[in-house]
Amino acid sequence: MMIIMNVEATVEQVEVVVERITANGFKPLVLHGEERKVIAVVGQNPYSTHEQYVYLPGVEQVMPISRPYKMTSREFKPQNTTFPVRNFQIGGDQVIMMAGPCSVESRTQLLETALAIKEAGGQILRGGAYKPRTSPYSFQGLGEEGLEILAEARELTGMPVVTEVTSHDLVPLVAKYADILQIGARNMQNFALLNAAGASQQPILLKRGNSATIEELLMSAEYILSHGNRQVILCERGIRTFETSTRNTTDINAVPVLKSLTHLPVFLDPSHSTGRWEFVAPIARAGIAAGADGLIIEVHLAPEKALSDGAQSLKPERYAQLVRQARAIALDVDRC
Ligand code: PEP
Ligand code: MN
Repeated sequence: MMIIMNVEATVEQVEVVVERITANGFKPLVLHGEERKVIAVVGQNPYSTHEQYVYLPGVEQVMPISRPYKMTSREFKPQNTTFPVRNFQIGGDQVIMMAGPCSVESRTQLLETALAIKEAGGQILRGGAYKPRTSPYSFQGLGEEGLEILAEARELTGMPVVTEVTSHDLVPLVAKYADILQIGARNMQNFALLNAAGASQQPILLKRGNSATIEELLMSAEYILSHGNRQVILCERGIRTFETSTRNTTDINAVPVLKSLTHLPVFLDPSHSTGRWEFVAPIARAGIAAGADGLIIEVHLAPEKALSDGAQSLKPERYAQLVRQARAIALDVDRC
């Protein structure tokens, strides 16, 4: 249930409602909107009814929410969530272009790639330092050295960086270096990691698990939001279907569906969703047309030599061409 306070409600009136919620055995989550406060009532108590709140001073409306996720839902917060990451506004009018190699492989590789991406119109630099690989024999990432290289690339280019954190105990370390913490598809339901990411108060890029439903993705986001961290980006990166001609199947529906169900920004990763560089640009264009707030794309100077995900990586020239096309489509859908 959600309790919407009226515009003139005082701090004391909000406190009374919060106390009543707690006394009834629920957890109150207060959202400070621009105009008014909204309080989400989280938990289960069959003996509690919404009449217990309607007549409290300062309460304008009490709304039941049938969805299992609360703070993540559009009912809870009708306006889009936007937040700054250094000089960029995530979830605003501008479609945000994140790009970089799948893995940080070396200092020279990352610095050169970062400069090329910036030149091509990329805005936020990606690169994995901790790599969750299907095989234990594959390249696992440079670890903290990779984080240091990412920070150096940020110094050099001014681009904020996003990198994956694979375990809850690495959150403080990765948060020291990165502007955005990525939670990968394989960890979408790693609840210890979601809790640590929530507690960190850093912006989070949460990727959809490859067999997760949209509702499960939203429930995972709810873990982060329930810690008071509202800076969450959701990312569709393809799901597993019976189709084998691409690495995953882009659930392009997920973009408008998520936009309707939640206020959080929604990005698309056409690199992992297709697994083949030839299909990255068409699906990226479709994503912008479908209403995505940003793209995250793998770029490599020499994809044939990449230590991970070379087959789906674009060369910088192709990436530059894609950015131009994406910006034109963004204008067509009233974005920029
Ligand atoms: C990645 O971004 O390189 C990655 C491993 O992505 P995902 O978690 O979507 O597979
Ligand atoms: Mn990758």
